Amino acid sequence: MAFKGTKLYSILGQKCPRCQEGSLFINHNPYKMTNWDKMHSDCPVCGLHYEREPGFFQGAMYVSYGLGVALSVAVLIADILVGFNALEFFIANTLALVFFAPLLFRWARAIYLNIFITYRPEARS
Ligand SMILES: [Zn+2]
Repeated sequence: MAFKGTKLYSILGQKCPRCQEGSLFINHNPYKMTNWDKMHSDCPVCGLHYEREPGFFQGAMYVSYGLGVALSVAVLIADILVGFNALEFFIANTLALVFFAPLLFRWARAIYLNIFITYRPEARS
């Protein structure tokens, strides 16, 4: 991709924030129900240990909350444009949050890792 080296590349591509080559998750498909949440413990390319300390990814829940609120606001705006009432918004929002839950989970972890780790292409071994 053209924007390699940016945090957006790492987040959207689910790549290691340090080398941007190794993948964060074992399976690339977030909707494969057997292992959608399984991460590599270390980057397969540069060896970066992803869980920086015990419970590190609990902080990603705050990012996930923010993403969930952003998604709900987007659904609200779409519902206002379509003319849905409150019950229809509730149903549409619930469906959107459930459908996008695996993606929000993965993006939250990638964003949280990218807060602490910067891109270093020389880290590749
Ligand atoms: Zn790496």
